[in-house]
Amino acid sequence: MCYAIPGVVVEIRDKLVTIDYFGERKLARNDFCKLAIGDYVLAQGGFIIERVEETKAKAVLSDWKELFNELQETDMRLTSEAKTLYQLANKTRHEHTGNSCCVHGIINFSNYCVKDCLYCGIRNSNDNLIRYRMSVDEIVEASDMAVNKYNFKALVLQSGEDMWYNDEILMDIIDKVRSRCNVLLIMSIGERDLSTYKLLYERGARGILLRFETSKEDLYSSLKPGSNLKKRIELIEELHRMGYLIMTGFLVGLPGQTEEDILRDIHLTNKLHSEMFSFGPFISHKDTPLKDASLPSLDMALTSIARARMLYPDARILVTTALETLDKFEGAKKGLLAGGNSLMIDMTPVKYQKLYSIYPEKKGTESSIEERIEEVTKLLESIGRAPTDLGL
Ligand code: SAH
Repeated sequence: MCYAIPGVVVEIRDKLVTIDYFGERKLARNDFCKLAIGDYVLAQGGFIIERVEETKAKAVLSDWKELFNELQETDMRLTSEAKTLYQLANKTRHEHTGNSCCVHGIINFSNYCVKDCLYCGIRNSNDNLIRYRMSVDEIVEASDMAVNKYNFKALVLQSGEDMWYNDEILMDIIDKVRSRCNVLLIMSIGERDLSTYKLLYERGARGILLRFETSKEDLYSSLKPGSNLKKRIELIEELHRMGYLIMTGFLVGLPGQTEEDILRDIHLTNKLHSEMFSFGPFISHKDTPLKDASLPSLDMALTSIARARMLYPDARILVTTALETLDKFEGAKKGLLAGGNSLMIDMTPVKYQKLYSIYPEKKGTESSIEERIEEVTKLLESIGRAPTDLGL
């Protein structure tokens, strides 16, 4: 599987590069490569990741050309007779973002967390959880495998808020991963000092995944003891100013959350310059104070995707694995057909996957990484989606 198709550079304006993919043009930012018009490149998340040698690029493109056209036809067919909200959202997705679908890898490298969020299975006071921390070498190995063996071009490194990974260790991780992998690195490590985030940016991290969880201030404070929504939002805004691509969002179906709240959450996600909307259903975990909370319906989760698409037609909208807990077999497909256009695949070493149990029955943890990749590849093909970059 390849998660990025090479494109050819047709225009360069300072750091902004226009790339042509089979006649479709997308913009990307170039922070890392020396480029000239006519060069072939791989881009991800609107960033140029690497230059690709012409003969290699042409070989990949000739393999892809026919398939790409077939995929586009399938996508078009599926969106041609839109009637319901989901179908209309899917049509809007098709018209505004084409059949591109981002597929990012995610490595959950530690389940230690200083926070005690009432909804989260890795909360500090959950004593039933076996805790793990991956060493720098393990993280670098797992990243190397994701990028160089499985071809991921964007990788999220996620953990609980674990201060064991201090500035020095985090910088070491980024240096070592970047020395072995051409990849868009996205950090998801919670609320850390701005100085830490500045250092990580200087080392080459370019994305941050940090959800605001809910835009409802009193709900936020009641679910996250000792935390403050304003502070989290200010941090996200500051990180955007620093130059990071922002991925943020919220939980759908929290106790006490109304439909209006969810609409406000969608608007806030956009207001925070989200490059990728990351929101998904809240799934109650037996070892948390919210163990008895009921699950949101699949319809509620899909409606929030569809509404986000109708409100923000150009958005990248992630279909989270939590949606697949609500519908094990078709959750991802239904999310993609309700307006979603991004997926993540868990690339955490299998022995740790189940331990990153923010919620129960996490999809993917019962199969091998290869099986999961194959499943996603088949799904994307069946609904006509291609892994070209969505551009800036
Ligand atoms: N330390 C990082 C990562 C936290 S875990 C950070 O603070 O951003 C990643 C996300 O999992 C959280 O942002 C939250 O939205 C989600 N999550 C936690 N508990 C969940 C649950 N019970 N159901 C669904 N998602 C959950």
